[in-house]
Amino acid sequence: MVKIALVGCTGNIGKQVAEVVRRNPALFSFSALVCGENRAALDALKEEFKPRLALCAAGAAGDIFSDCDVAFIAAGGFAGLSYTLRAVRAGKKVALANKESLVCGGELVMREAEKYGAEIVPVDSEHSALFQALSCRRDTPFSRLVLTASGGPFLRKTAEELKYVTAADALRHPTWSMGAKITVDSATLLNKGYEVIEAKWLYGADFSQIEAIVHPESIVHSLVYFEDGAAIAQLGYPDMRLPIQFALTYPERRPCCPQLDLAAIGSLHFERLPAEKFPCYTLALAAGKEGGTAPAVLNGAGEEAVRAFLAGGISFPQIAETIEDALSRIPRERADSFEALARADRRAREAAKQRLYGV
Ligand code: MG
Repeated sequence: MVKIALVGCTGNIGKQVAEVVRRNPALFSFSALVCGENRAALDALKEEFKPRLALCAAGAAGDIFSDCDVAFIAAGGFAGLSYTLRAVRAGKKVALANKESLVCGGELVMREAEKYGAEIVPVDSEHSALFQALSCRRDTPFSRLVLTASGGPFLRKTAEELKYVTAADALRHPTWSMGAKITVDSATLLNKGYEVIEAKWLYGADFSQIEAIVHPESIVHSLVYFEDGAAIAQLGYPDMRLPIQFALTYPERRPCCPQLDLAAIGSLHFERLPAEKFPCYTLALAAGKEGGTAPAVLNGAGEEAVRAFLAGGISFPQIAETIEDALSRIPRERADSFEALARADRRAREAAKQRLYGV
């Protein structure tokens, strides 16, 4: 029986983790459930799964990870980083679905994981695919990592058309069903930039070894090229339950999702990622390459900009402009402590709010 401490239990990924546990009661149980604000949903999960601990807006409270086998970090945004660090410092196996932990805190999280003997297992579909293609090892030699991108709902839009797209348009993702923030990040391709940074930290890759290509069907979830010319990919219908369950059972596999019917799908397509139309992608890569607190600034400003876009307050291109403005104004620091990252995050949000709302 794998005991799971789930942080972010009422969000999109958290609900799917609960579904995986619900379907495999002999394999999995919850030792702790933590949510951000949805107390009613937490109460329902608490009633169903009877964890030792159930917390809403936990902050630093509670002994969340002491008795778990897997710390599952599914909280969204920069807020997830502090939980990831706590789980890592408890020396746990950490199933990581929070992107910001590695995007903003990759250097710190990986260093602490090494120090405390924690294991980071990716849950994002692309990084899980890479993990599977690398024989479930993070030290398998490879020559290149290729992340696939659906391209989001605006792949075929011109730069001019992108000025007039709305939040409702952005939330219509063609292949994946996800939370609002990440769906908008998929539309700007900021999310794909994040995934390149995550791949760098997870697999010790140089940025020159990581590429993103557009694959509109979202059937090939990513692939790895090896020295001898072989490429190994992981394929499946777009369904997060598979990477969630695999993070909990690997290297074992258990029944989870329907198997692919390739003949019914017919054809798969791949094309270059049109980075020139999606400045958030380029900004993310530049911040990742710069390192230090640059990605934390990018992310903090991005979270505020997406919030404003979802509220109808700014246009789609203004998301990138807000991020770029914060990056041009906030001084960088070394990213070797949580405090430095939190400071960069706070300053970026202040700069973004100043630009967005004049406060
Ligand atoms: Mg992904």
